[in-house]
Amino acid sequence: MNSAVIAIHGGAGTITRAAMDPQREREYTEALEHVLREGQRVLAAGGSALDAVTEAVRLLEDCPLFNAGKGAVLTHAGTYELDASVMDGATLNAGAITCVKRVRNPVLAARAVLEHSEHVLFAAEGAEAFAAAQGLELVEPEYYFTQARHDQWQRARATAGMALLDHDAAALAAQAQAQGNGTDPIDPDRKFGTVGAVACDAQGNVAAATSTGGVTNKQVGRVGDTPVFGAGCYADDVAAVSATGTGEMFIRTVAAFDVSAQMRYAGLSLEEAARRVVMEKLPAINGRGGLIAVDRAGNVTLPFNTEGMYRGIARVGEPVNVWIYG
Ligand code: ASP
Repeated sequence: MNSAVIAIHGGAGTITRAAMDPQREREYTEALEHVLREGQRVLAAGGSALDAVTEAVRLLEDCPLFNAGKGAVLTHAGTYELDASVMDGATLNAGAITCVKRVRNPVLAARAVLEHSEHVLFAAEGAEAFAAAQGLELVEPEYYFTQARHDQWQRARATAGMALLDHDAAALAAQAQAQGNGTDPIDPDRKFGTVGAVACDAQGNVAAATSTGGVTNKQVGRVGDTPVFGAGCYADDVAAVSATGTGEMFIRTVAAFDVSAQMRYAGLSLEEAARRVVMEKLPAINGRGGLIAVDRAGNVTLPFNTEGMYRGIARVGEPVNVWIYG
């Protein structure tokens, strides 16, 4: 049987009463299903895990529902700074970009770094110049704009002087509800909307990709876990992992690498290794969020320590499965 499989996430967070809005829920479900089917198509055609995760994350970046590419969150200065990474487990090749303001699809820039550079991580203007030299599309900042993210940023600025995830979000959430802004199934003020994909192809090779606008109201220049290999993205000859959540804690626990390391050095299963990271190691330092992971046998696990995480799995030849809540 073909073990080829792709899993994706579109961020984790707290579920609100507005979770009961079936229309909104359907939008998210359909978006996730569409992306999964496209990833599945790549794998079914014999495509590599690397190609499948790149394509899935590109589509998630183009979807304004998620905090990556179009629909990204804003910095404290009201600007956009995007991060993305991609890693190939078969070769340990990796590419990432951070703090880009004009690249339409950050994951394609990350992929270009992986394929066409001797380096692994480019930042800011240098990353944009690299992307442009590779023929990738650059956009004006308005391209990323969505009213929902703009409103969310204004609420964060009004009630917090620092990055959204660094303060008690309860007041913000209440305010958002009062203003009628809580229509996402997962409260947008308490959601870590990074997107990501992991896949195992027919050869048993695995890959991971992650992309984000970061956290709302973040300080200009702040870099989270997404472009940091081993933290928000990792793939080797054991497993591939993509994470979403409070990035600083994922960096401090080297969360994505730790899943693979526990399997390799302690002989844990994929599921148990991921569970320990998400349910024990991250909460020990107040880390919130989740991850998706796949191993070379095609096992998949999608743990999170928040109330919900947009997520789904598609195996080649089988129907796609999508979930939002716990
Ligand atoms: N992990 C991301 C960051 O810290 C945020 C997210 O997952 O939404 O930049």
